[in-house]
This record gives sequence, structure tokens and C-alpha cells, in this order.
Amino acid sequence: MDTESRDLWVFVETEETGSARNVGIELLTPGRGLAAKQGGRLCAVVIGCCTNDAVRESEEHGAERVYVIDAPEYRRYTTDAYAEALTQLVRKYAPASLLIGATANGRDLAPRVSSRLHTGLTADCTGLDIDEETGCVAWTRPAFGGNLMARILCPEHRPQMGTVRPGVFKKTASPVHSVVLREDIRVSPEKIRTRVLEVISDIKSGGVDLQSAEIIVSGGRGVGGPEGFAPIRELAEALGGAVGASRAAVDAGWIAHAHQVGQTGKTVSPKLYIACGISGAIQHLAGMSGSDVIVAVNRDPDAPIFGAADYGIVGDLFEILPILTAELKKLRS
Ligand code: FAD
Repeated sequence: MDTESRDLWVFVETEETGSARNVGIELLTPGRGLAAKQGGRLCAVVIGCCTNDAVRESEEHGAERVYVIDAPEYRRYTTDAYAEALTQLVRKYAPASLLIGATANGRDLAPRVSSRLHTGLTADCTGLDIDEETGCVAWTRPAFGGNLMARILCPEHRPQMGTVRPGVFKKTASPVHSVVLREDIRVSPEKIRTRVLEVISDIKSGGVDLQSAEIIVSGGRGVGGPEGFAPIRELAEALGGAVGASRAAVDAGWIAHAHQVGQTGKTVSPKLYIACGISGAIQHLAGMSGSDVIVAVNRDPDAPIFGAADYGIVGDLFEILPILTAELKKLRS
């Protein structure tokens, strides 16, 4: 085991098709700065089957080294196969730190690996830095129900591990000529105790995929009730976007929690975020301030959301949204 390594690893989760999931590629963005401050290389770890696309994407986004474990047993995520493969790889190369996306699979994988390696794990981070005094990764995450942001260090064990929410960082292209290292780590079928029989997509059943939406139209307490989401949905549909919500609207039972944006909801960074009847509380801003363009519709000219917005419309959302939707439909036709 190379105990001297200062490398920073990013686990690049793959789809069944072998392409990379967004979050792994997003994490290469902060990874570059962190690896440089740590004095090591930025490395991607790609586990899957037929993973050439994921390897290429890692290369295009700055991974100086790409470790690849590619075999049929990794086509679909299983706890046993992935935990075994990643643990073996970490033991062999001993990276200083390891970032994993806080997807359903990442949240399952990270604690398994960290406990096998007897190291710490900071789950569900929203911020990353290097602590100047110790040189450790400083992991920031909401604590006590989001009432304070905790800064966590792992000074005594390696690798330092953390999961990071999708959508916190943006993908940035930074092509490099990577060294690709293919590792022959196989897990025999009898060691894999679970089998995926069927994948049922939540999106198909009317769910919401806020984190990959390029346009989000969100409603808050200002919509006044569940029926108040109708003009929000119509505008979202006209734009080909998804519907988001503030916690106030979710807590009132007007819309499902899957739509909630913010500190205790989803972190999103679409190209366009339209906040309607949302005041702009700090906990809401925490989930959407990374959006490229923010438009706010609010009848209170002093609403804090206007401080975060690129464009503000002061007025009643029930008057403004139908006009916007009608104009968009005209433009489209
Ligand atoms: P309000 O603050 O009540 O604002 C409603 C706005 O609608 C007002 O600005 C009003 O002027 C405007 N309005 C009313 N009628 C109209 C109309 N007809 N047309 C136009 N505008 C109109 N909040 C989140 O959103 N996400 C989170 O993840 C989250 N996590 C939290 C975690 C913690 C630990 C805590 C303490 C709070 C959290 N909150 C979160 C709650 C947050 O503090 C706010 O209470 C919440 O965001 C307020 O939602 P809102 O803006 O919809 O409602």
C-alpha cells in the first residue's frame, strides 16, 4: 500500500449503459482545486460495464488518472460487488481522500467502504475545502436539522471520505491527457447476495427529476393552496421544465416533498430557475442559488428573493404566469 499518496479520488458512478452519472463528473470540478491544495493528483474511479464513455468524460473534465474496473458483474450497482471492488482499489493505491456522489447508490456504498477501511465518512456534504492548519479536507454539511452548518475534519484516518449532494457543483470541461489504469478486480457471483429484478422509474409514474432539469418553475406559500400550483405547472410545461416548491408549500401538503428545493430538499442548479410566490429564505436560497439565471415573481417589492434574482417581476403570480405561458405558447407555435 502506497502510504505516501496525496491523490484525491472521485468515484464516477455509471449508468447501466456505461456512461457517467452527472454527480461524479460534477465532483471533478472541486476535486481539481482540492487535489492541487493537497499536493496530489485528481483521479477518477470508474466502476461499471462497457465504461468507455465514462472514462472519456472523466478525461474531458480533468481527471489526471482514471482507475477503471470494468466487468459484467458491475453493469448494475450491487452493494457487495461495488464495495468489494472499491475497497480493494483503495487498499492498493491509498488515496488521501475520496469523494462519492450522495445518490441512492453512493449513500449505500460510501459507509460500507469507509467501515471496511476503518476511516471516517462525512455524509451529504454541501461544501468542500482544505483546512489551512491541518491540510485535511474540510467537509461542510447541514447539522441539527439544517439549523447550523458543521465543518468536519478527519485528521487521523485515511482516506478522508465524504458524500456530496448532486447539483452542488457544476461540470466544467478541463480536458487532460489522462493515464488510464485498468484493474482486473473480479467478484464471483456467489459473493453478490442481491439481484436487481426490475428497475421502476419514479419519473415515469409522475415523479420529478429536479436535479437534472435545465428549467425549474417553483411555487411557494404565495400560490395559496394545492390548486395554486396549476399556473406553475402550465408555465413549467410550456418551458419543458420541472416543478419545484418551497418547504412552506410542501409542509402545507400542497405538493409532494420530492419537489422541495432547499437545504432540507434538493440542491439544484438549472439554467433557469423561476421562483413564484417564494420569499427567498436563506434555506431556500441554499438549494437554488447555483442556478445560472434566477427570475422571481413576487408581489412584495421588498421580498429577499429579489436580492438573489437576475430578473424580478413585482406583481401577482396569478396575473403574471398566465401571460408568460400564453406568450411562450405563441412563440413556440
Ligand atoms: P413565505 O416566506 O411565506 O413567502 C411567501 C411569499 O409569497 C411572500 O414573499 C409573498 O410576498 C409572496 N406572495 C404571496 N402571494 C403572492 C401572489 N399572489 N403573487 C406573488 N407573490 C405572492 N425552505 C425551503 O424552501 N426549502 C428548504 O429546504 C428549507 N429547509 C429549512 C430547514 C430549516 C432547518 C429551517 C428552519 C427552515 C427551512 N426552510 C426551508 C423554511 C424557510 O425558512 C422558509 O420558511 C420557507 O422557505 C418559506 O417558504 P415561502 O417562501 O414559500 O413562504
